[in-house]
Amino acid sequence: MMTNTLSTSIQTLQNYVNGRWIDSTTTQWLEVENPSTGEVIGSVPISTAAEASDAIDAAHQAFQQWREVPATTRVQPLFELTQKLKAHEESIARLVSLENGKSLPDARAEVKRAVENCEVACGMPVLQQGDTLIGAASGIDGQVLRLPRGVYTMIAPFNFPAMVPFWFLPYALATGNTYVVKPSERVPLTMSYLAQLIADSDLPPGVFNLVNGSVDVATAFMDNPKTAGVSFVGTSRVAALVAQRCAANNKRFQAMGGAKNHLVVMPDAQLDQVIRNMITSCYGCAGQRCMASSAVVAVGDDTYRRVCAAFTEASKQVKVGDPLNPALANESMLMGPVISAKAKQFILGMIEQGIAEGATLAHDGRNAKVIGDHRGHFIGPVVFTDVKPGMAIHKTEIFGPVAIILKARSFDEAVNIINEHQYGNGASIYTQSGYWARRFKLEAQCGMIGINVGIPAPVAPLPFGGMKSSQFSAVKTQGRSTIHFFTEEKIVTERFWAGDE
Ligand code: NAD
Repeated sequence: MMTNTLSTSIQTLQNYVNGRWIDSTTTQWLEVENPSTGEVIGSVPISTAAEASDAIDAAHQAFQQWREVPATTRVQPLFELTQKLKAHEESIARLVSLENGKSLPDARAEVKRAVENCEVACGMPVLQQGDTLIGAASGIDGQVLRLPRGVYTMIAPFNFPAMVPFWFLPYALATGNTYVVKPSERVPLTMSYLAQLIADSDLPPGVFNLVNGSVDVATAFMDNPKTAGVSFVGTSRVAALVAQRCAANNKRFQAMGGAKNHLVVMPDAQLDQVIRNMITSCYGCAGQRCMASSAVVAVGDDTYRRVCAAFTEASKQVKVGDPLNPALANESMLMGPVISAKAKQFILGMIEQGIAEGATLAHDGRNAKVIGDHRGHFIGPVVFTDVKPGMAIHKTEIFGPVAIILKARSFDEAVNIINEHQYGNGASIYTQSGYWARRFKLEAQCGMIGINVGIPAPVAPLPFGGMKSSQFSAVKTQGRSTIHFFTEEKIVTERFWAGDE
C-alpha cells in the first residue's frame, strides 16, 4: 500500500484494483525522477495490457451495483474525499512539486482546482436531473433520462498530476460510472497518493482503479469492449491517435491536445498593471501549462517597444531553483526545472532554431543562475523579440520558459496571427476598451479567452477546452458538457389509457 508521507526514499509503486493495492507482474519498470535534482524518487511499473484489462473487468463488475446506488448516496464518498483533499493539501502540493518541479504556490493552486471539481461533482443529484415534456403529443409525455454508462478510463499528462485526473474522475463516479485511471509514467507518485485518499473514502471495491503504465495500458483502455469512454489529455500528436482509435472502436472520447497561447497587448493596455500577469502566464510551471502564454503580440510600434523593454526586464527578475528548497519558500516568482533532460534538450534546440531563423535573443536564460542545487533540468526565462509569424519558434509548442514577442500593425493583424495558428487553446487581450475586448472574445479562434487575465483557465463549474489542434473532440471537460459525456441520454415517449375502475 502507498504510504501517505512525503519521504525521500524510493517508492515502488503498485496498482490499485478492485479495492486492493497489488504488485504489477510486469518485467518493465521506469525510474521516477525529481527534476530539480535528478535524483530517483520512485519506481513505476509499466503494466501490461492484461493488467489494464483486469482493472476494467473489476470496474465493469462494480458498475452493476454502483449504477443502482441513489445519487444522493453516491456523492457521499466524494464529500468525504473533498475533506481529505483539503486536509492533505500541503502534502499533495509538495509531492507535485517534488515529482513535477513546479513551485509550491502553483502546486497548491493545482490541488485547489482538484478540490473544486470534487465540490462541483457533489452537486450531481441536481446536475444529473433529466428533462420532462408533459404533453409531447396528445396524451403522450416525453422524458429525457441521464443514465450512467459503464467503465470510464483516463490517460493523464505529466504537467498537472493532481488536477487533470480530477477534471473527469469526480464527475464519472458521481454520475454512477466506474473508473480506471492511468497517470503519466513520468509523475505517478501524486496519483498513487490521491488513490489512497480515494481508497479511504468509502467507495465500494472496483468503483475506482489505478493502473500505472504507458502506451500498452492506454491502448488496452481504448480497445477493451467493456470501456464506455476514454478521456485523454496530452500532446496533440497522441490526442489525434486517441481520437482515431476511439472513433474506430465506437467509444466516446475526450481528447485534449497541445497549445500555443497568445497574449495581445493593445496600445491602451495598462502595462504596469499587467506585466506581472504576463510574466506569471509565460513562466509559471516553467512554461509547462497548456494555458501558459508563450507568444506576446504587441499592437503598434510604440506598444511593441514598451512591451519588449518591460517584459525583458521583468523576465530577469524571475528566480530559478528547486521549489522545495526552504530558502526559496518566500520567493513570489520562482521557476523550477522542466520535466526531464529530454525536454530540456528539445527546448535548447528550439532556442538554437530561433537564433538561426533570425529572431533576436533579448534575454538568454540558458545559463541562468540557479539558486542552490543546480543538478536539475533548469533553464532560465528566455525572451525572443523580432519574431515573425510562421517561424518555428512561433509555430511549435515549445513547452518551456521561452517567450516570443511579435509585432502587429493593428488589432485585425493580431487576431489574424492567432487565427492562422494551428493551436486554439487560450488567448488573452490586455486593453481598457470594451470595443476591442468584445471583438476579441468573438473573433479569436480559441476555446478560452482572457480579458486582462493572462491565464484564462476556467474555474471548475465552467467548461474547459480548446479549438483546432488543441482539442480533438467536441466535448470539453468540467461544466455541463462533461455530464453529457458521462451519461446516456435515453428519451422515453410514454402514454397510458384510463383503466376499468
Ligand atoms: P503525452 O502525449 O506525451 O502523454 C500523455 C499521456 O499519453 C501519458 O499518460 C502517456 O503515457 C500516454 N501516451 C503516450 N503515447 C501514447 C500513445 N501512442 N497512445 C496512447 N497513449 C499514449 O503528453 P505529456 O508530455 O505528458 O503532456 C504535455 C502535453 O499535454 C502538452 O502538449 C500540453 O499542452 C498538453 N496538455 C493539454 C491540456 C489541455 O487541456 N488541452 C492540459 C494539460 C496538458
